[in-house]
Parts: sequence; C-alpha cells; structure tokens
Amino acid sequence: MGLRSRFRFNALAAALGLGLAAGHAAPELELTKFVFEKAEMGVPFRVSLYAADEATARTAADAAFARIAELNGVMSDYDSDAELSRLSRTSGQGRAVRVGDALWKVLVRAQEFSARSEGAFDITVGPLVNVWRRARRKQELPAPELLAGMMARVGFKKLRLDPARQTAELLAPEMRLDLGAIAKGFACDEALAVLRQRGFPRALVGGSGDMAAGDAPPGEPGWRIEVAALDVAGAPLPQVVFLRNGAIATSGDVFQRVEIAGRRYSHIVDPRTGLGLTDHSLVTVIAPDGMTADALSTTVSVLGPEQGLKLVEETPGTAAQVVRKPGERIEFLESARWRNVPKAGSTPTQQPTTR
Ligand code: ADP
Ligand code: MG
Repeated sequence: MGLRSRFRFNALAAALGLGLAAGHAAPELELTKFVFEKAEMGVPFRVSLYAADEATARTAADAAFARIAELNGVMSDYDSDAELSRLSRTSGQGRAVRVGDALWKVLVRAQEFSARSEGAFDITVGPLVNVWRRARRKQELPAPELLAGMMARVGFKKLRLDPARQTAELLAPEMRLDLGAIAKGFACDEALAVLRQRGFPRALVGGSGDMAAGDAPPGEPGWRIEVAALDVAGAPLPQVVFLRNGAIATSGDVFQRVEIAGRRYSHIVDPRTGLGLTDHSLVTVIAPDGMTADALSTTVSVLGPEQGLKLVEETPGTAAQVVRKPGERIEFLESARWRNVPKAGSTPTQQPTTR
C-alpha cells in the first residue's frame, strides 16, 4: 500500500470513528488538511495546513494571520501610522531614521533588486504609483508635466541605507516608499515561519498572486499550484506545478490595469520612464522564498523577457515563465530552471491568483 492510500485509509477510518490513529501509525498519516481565509494587506490571504484537528489548526492559522496583520502595520503605505509611512514623511529632512528588523530586511532586499535591475525594480516608485492610481480612477492619462515632476521624487539612489546603524534616509523631498511588489511575499514567508515554529511544517500561505509553501502534504511531492494563465484567446493552458519549501509569485497586468484610448496600462510602473507597463504580460517566478519570488516577478515584468530571464538565470534557485502579448502574437518563454520544476498533468487544486 502506498503512502498516499494509507493516508486516505486512515483519514477514512478517522472519519468513521474507528480510532485507528491512536498512537500506532506514523503521525503524518493522521493529519487532515485545513484551510482558512482572511483579508489581510487588502487582499484575501489563505492558510492551508495539515494538523491533527481543527482547533489546533485554527489556533496556528490565527497566529499566522496575526503576523501578517502585524507586518501590514509596519509596511503599509495606506496606513499613515505604519513605520513605512512615518519613514516616508521624513524625506528631504536630512535625517537618517532607525528602522525595525522586519522593515530593514525588506528595504535591504529591495535595494539589492534595484541595483541588480538598474532601477527597473524600485520601491521609491510611490509617487508614480499614486498618479497612475488616480489615472485609473478618472480613466484619463496623467499629464506629461505631472509625471516629469514625480520623477524628481523617485529613484532608488535617493534611498540611502546604513547597515552599521540600521538606518534609512530619504534624500529628496516628498518621496514615498511603496512595498506593494515585495511585502506580500515577505508576509507569506513570515506566516509560514510562524506555522513551522508552532509545529505545522506542512503548510501553504498565499495572498493574491504570492504563495509560500512549507513541507509537502502527506504522500505528495508538493503542494499543487496552478500557474495563472494569460487572459487572451490562444494563450497556453495553465500548468500545475508541485511546490514545497519554496515560493511562487505572479505579476502582470492581467489583474490590475486601466484602459485609456485603447491602450492598457498596468499598475506596475517603469520607474525609468514613469509610465505604466503596456505590454500585456504575465510573469510567474518560483524561488526559495516569497520575498525573492515577489520582487523578482515584478522586476521581470518591468525588464521584459530578454533581460528579465537573464536576471532569473543569475539568481540561484529561481525559475520563471513569461507569457505575453505585446502585439498580435503571443510569446511564451521559460528560464532554463523552469524545465526542472516538478509538474502535474491532472486537475489543479490551488490557485495562486484569487482576484
Ligand atoms: P501584485 O500587487 O498584483 O501582486 P506585484 O507584486 O507585481 O503585483 O506588485 C505591484 C505593485 O508594486 C504595484 O501596485 C505598486 O504598488 C508597486 N510597484 C509598481 N511598479 C513597481 C516597480 N517598478 N518596482 C517596485 N514596485 C513597483
Ligand atoms: Mg511582485
């Protein structure tokens, strides 16, 4: 009897009240999957975990959600009390501000991605993101002068980090940091760490297009994740991948965009031009951790497939897939390591994208 069928048999026995599980069989064979959902960071977050019973599963999931809420209180650019917002308000004052450990980790990582992508990834993009948010509401393109003005407040070199003192200084006036492309992935990592600490290593945490997986479900090679598909006719069918002790992130203009005068502008902005992306693409990245997957997927979206996939090849443990339709033709590209990602042919059970 295979591991998987034994697992099923025990689950059935437990459901029938046969009490087979009591003490004898290996513990992982007595586990049941529990799924919890909660809105955090403005998106639906989902925690899936294997546990002996619902009460312990729920307590662990609540602790994971609480960690995500706590991180939102640090990294939100909406909440004016958040540490990030307070830091943004010090811009242009010539002050280096000491930042907490969680925010520090994310700032350091973000700056690494900015340097490696020569500014395609940039958390100082906040003022531009706000302009494009307004454009989306009003269905009207931002005036070029307005965009040009915003560019003076944007640029990763205007954010100075001092590792010796763990301080950050925003060099230009009216800068606004935006962790929208990296915080969710980090939150997934941290929530997963909470579950592991509490004795639930077989877990999956996902929020919108970001997911982080712990150990595999009992008897499975990994968590089954459906890679999101591009929403155009003729796009390749979605693949199902197995993920364990790793993360996956999706980024692109399929989910948030504005259409003005027949052109679609993404919520992802190219900080080098100030413009919302228009090349209708969907990038999926698999990485050792959620923060890397999240940041890298956005970076590849901005860089485009050629430079983007080169960056993926240079980043250990990462793989990516790009589907895009810049004009009439659909392009489908994969990094070399994507071929080694374990895949399934059967029906998907988890979706990395929920909006
Ligand atoms: P999603 O938010 O849909 O999961 P991403 O992870 O790609 O997608 O993050 C997009 C968000 O990141 C935007 O809403 C914005 O807040 C921010 N952002 C936009 N452009 C950039 C950029 N070039 N570099 C870093 N962050 C960006
Ligand atoms: Mg991202």
